[in-house]
Amino acid sequence: MPDYMFLLESRLLPEQRAALLRVQELSAALGYNVYLTGGTVRDLITGASLRDLDFTVEGNPSKIARELEKGGAKVLVEDEKLRHVEILFAGDCEGSIAAARDDHYVRPGTRPEIRWSTIMEDLRRRDFSLNAIAISLNPASRGLLLDPTNGLSDIERAEVRALIIHSFTNQPVRLLRVLRFAARMGFKLEQRTQEWFDLAIERDLQHTITPEDAGAELRGLAREENPGAILKLWEEHDLLETVHAVLAKKHPDYDAINRLNKVRDDLFMAGLRPRLAAPMMLAILGRLKDREQGSLLHKLGFRAAEVEHILGFEEEAHASAKELAGKKLAAPIDAFRFLEKMPLETLAHLLAFSSNSGAVSKIRAYLNKWRPLRQGIPTIANELTAIGMPAGPKFDTIVNQVFAMQLTGRGKTPEEREKILRKLSGIKEQPKPKETKGKDKKGAKAAAKAGAAHAAKPVAHAEKPAASTAKAHKAAATKKPEKKKKK
Ligand code: ATP
Ligand code: MG
Repeated sequence: MPDYMFLLESRLLPEQRAALLRVQELSAALGYNVYLTGGTVRDLITGASLRDLDFTVEGNPSKIARELEKGGAKVLVEDEKLRHVEILFAGDCEGSIAAARDDHYVRPGTRPEIRWSTIMEDLRRRDFSLNAIAISLNPASRGLLLDPTNGLSDIERAEVRALIIHSFTNQPVRLLRVLRFAARMGFKLEQRTQEWFDLAIERDLQHTITPEDAGAELRGLAREENPGAILKLWEEHDLLETVHAVLAKKHPDYDAINRLNKVRDDLFMAGLRPRLAAPMMLAILGRLKDREQGSLLHKLGFRAAEVEHILGFEEEAHASAKELAGKKLAAPIDAFRFLEKMPLETLAHLLAFSSNSGAVSKIRAYLNKWRPLRQGIPTIANELTAIGMPAGPKFDTIVNQVFAMQLTGRGKTPEEREKILRKLSGIKEQPKPKETKGKDKKGAKAAAKAGAAHAAKPVAHAEKPAASTAKAHKAAATKKPEKKKKK
């Protein structure tokens, strides 16, 4: 059996690891059992990127949420009835914490009665076996996999399997979900699940999906890496009209979706993992009029702040592009600082759709040249130390000045940089000692020895080190072996 804890720890981003440890700690302090569940476990097993952390606790998550808020986490949505908290952990890492619960249906298709439960009952009430696996985060069983419905073997078979015959009757939104997971993972529907799916469509259950449930699926869709494939599948099964009639009639803007996806790939290559929810939603709704977009989002239960963010997104991005291309940000270092703070989704949107060529070329320079140069800042700092500059505010200013110069194409070689660093720091290279001819060889040797001994000592506070010291540091910084002097 694979070591799931090892697998997990090796796949988490540092901020995700910190969030996991904190939730574990808080749960232990409250005496709650805590598990990693749902999409997180599925994505871990299948090797997909871990976008968010879904926790389930045998207890009330709101107490954990309050503590997390003190540490900088933001609660995005809190459903007190369901005891479900959507949260942005400190470090901008998305996730959720929910109470373990059982959904009890008096009759198939009725509203379920909620009962707080153990993790095992909670896993069994879930939609598909691949979403019903948990990993224990409790001290005595940390890393133990709980898979009561055999989800692992369905993942191996590349199948999405509903857990009970009434699955779609109980929650018709699962008709959208089953296709979303199948398209996303390239899985097919397990044979009986396919039969239940067909039967549900025959009985027209898709028309009983509530707008809020459809809205949640649309929200999930906009966070997908390949929403186009899912939308096509929904269209093929006439399910898009159950999400929204106007969207079904006018169709999603597949071109815009593809353009944004292409940009996402480019950003991945540059080492960035953007969340594209707002621009992707706009791309999906691209063929609808502004008014239609607004009414769709409201109808599907999007929160006011979400609607405002999505509908105001394009205008804000446009304003950012104007500022970026403007005179105030003409110096590359100013544009760099501005782009560093620009949300990745804005940056992606501009790359995909902006006609402001000045802004777009700066974004490209930022991704392809400036960010890689920033990785070289420690080298500049080493080089500055090597010529004898002590740490302090002036040190940092000089490093930043050299970085700013590099953005304009200067200081590419270590030699060029040394000149610049010396000029900015005022640390001059000591003149070479005069060559002594034949007569005084003994004296020269002694002087060289003394110099070498001095070079070996640390010179943390020497503003003007001896020439031999500077050379020794330079050699260390450039890591080239010192050439032997010709005799
Ligand atoms: P994603 O990667 O899109 O976030 P996810 O599986 O985490 O995928 P969520 O919508 O975040 O999907 O739901 C979290 C978990 O809650 C699911 O994995 C599933 O176990 C459970 N779940 C969500 N919706 C339903 C539903 N309608 N019926 C049963 N279980 C559900
Ligand atoms: Mg999730």
